[in-house]
Formats: sequence, structure tokens, C-alpha cells
Amino acid sequence: KRDHEDLQKIEEAIQELDPKSGKIKTFADLSSAISPATASGLHSSHFTNMTEIQEQAIPLGLKGKDILGAAKTGSGKTLAFLVPVLEKLYRAQWTEFDGLGALILSPTRELAVQIFEVLRKIGRHHAFSAGLVIGGKSLKEEAERLIRMNILVCTPGRMLQHLDQTAGFDANNLQILVLDEADRIMDLGFQSAVDALVEHLPKSRQTLMFSATQSKKVSDLARLSLKDPDYVSVHQDA
Ligand code: ADP
Ligand code: MG
Repeated sequence: KRDHEDLQKIEEAIQELDPKSGKIKTFADLSSAISPATASGLHSSHFTNMTEIQEQAIPLGLKGKDILGAAKTGSGKTLAFLVPVLEKLYRAQWTEFDGLGALILSPTRELAVQIFEVLRKIGRHHAFSAGLVIGGKSLKEEAERLIRMNILVCTPGRMLQHLDQTAGFDANNLQILVLDEADRIMDLGFQSAVDALVEHLPKSRQTLMFSATQSKKVSDLARLSLKDPDYVSVHQDA
């Protein structure tokens, strides 16, 4: 069991984080507010300075806020949600017996694989189980592994299929939902799959939504799945 006092200290450090102070520039500046496992995963993956979207979104994510984040491709959105995901489960003292704690939705298989690779790198010192659910195998084969996973990276259609059809699998205890590339999720016609999927999730969860562009479709989706969100947008320099 993790030391209660350690978790208390992390909670206190999170409360003191002020994203507007301009003082949180490096991952080391977050070190008292995140787990040693994530800090060393970031360090050994050679991530030192935060990008702008990370500076803005990670402190809010750690504070448990719902976020709608927009920043162009290549700006570092993956870590902006993966750090809060790992920390949410760490602070909840999530174990292999607690089932699915985090769900990350991606519009395409290729992007899901990329997210999963970053998760494996920065999450390697954690004991969470993580899997990819992107089809390509039979539902049954996928289902056998799925049931034991704490973190899943998936495409919306395939995930919905499992929630509807896989016996013994549910998301009733989910702590955090991420929609990455929400604009492309909408463009690719996944709106109804996402709507149906969200019906399977507890309302008490935290939700993080990221996109490269701000569009009406994304704000429509945000209205349905986010609670009193913080808007974080990073504009390109002129
Ligand atoms: P986006 O999802 O916004 O398109 P990614 O999360 O895929 O961006 O990151 C783009 C690239 O920037 C990746 O190669 C990633 O490893 C790198 N990167 C992200 N954050 C940092 C950082 N803090 N320091 C250095 N490189 C970073
Ligand atoms: Mg991305």
C-alpha cells in the first residue's frame, strides 16, 4: 500500500500549482505534484521542458478539471493528456483488480498505436496494465485481454462493440476519458459511436478533449461530454 502521507503531499502540491503563474515550465517543476514513477518515466524518455499546451493543460488536468484543449499538430498534446491519466489512477491507488480506469479514444488505428507507444514509454515505471483496442483481431481474442486492462487506447467504433457485446467487460468505474483529435473523430463520422459510448460511462468521471482545430462540431461534442470545462488554446505565433 502506498504511503498515505506521500499522496497527501502530492494533493497539496497540486492545489498549489498555478497554471497562470508562468512558473511551471519544465516537468521538474511538476515533480512534487506527480508520482515518482511518472517523473522518472518522463525523465528517462528525455522530456525536460514542457510545450505550451502541456504547461497549460497538465496542471488543470492534475486538478481534476474537464478540459477542452486546442493546439496545432506537433504541439505535444499526447503528454498533455497522458500525464493526467497516469496520475489520476496513481492517486486513486488503482490496481489490476480495479478494472478499466482510463479510456483514450483516437480517430484512427495509427494514432492509437502512437499514443500507446508514448504511454508505454512514460508509464513504464507504473504497474498499470494497458492495451490497444483497434480491431484487426477477432472480438473474442481482443475480449480476453481487454477484461484485465486498466488503461485502454481505442477507436470509438471498436470500443463501443466491446461495451455492447463483451460479457464481463464494463466501464462502470471509469475515472477518466480522453478524446484525442476530437475534430477528426467528428469528421470521420464517429459522433453516434461516441454518444453511445458515453452512455456506458459513469457521469462522475473526468473528461479531457483535445483537437488541432476549434470547430462547431467539437464544441457540440464538448457540450455533451464535458462538465464546466476549462478552455485551453494555444495559438500559432504570427
Ligand atoms: P500533437 O498530438 O499535438 O500533434 P505530439 O504529442 O504527437 O503532438 O508530439 C509531437 C512531437 O513532439 C513528438 O515527437 C513528441 O515526442 C514531441 N514532444 C512532445 N512533448 C515534448 C516535450 N515536452 N519536449 C520535447 N519533445 C516533445
Ligand atoms: Mg496528437
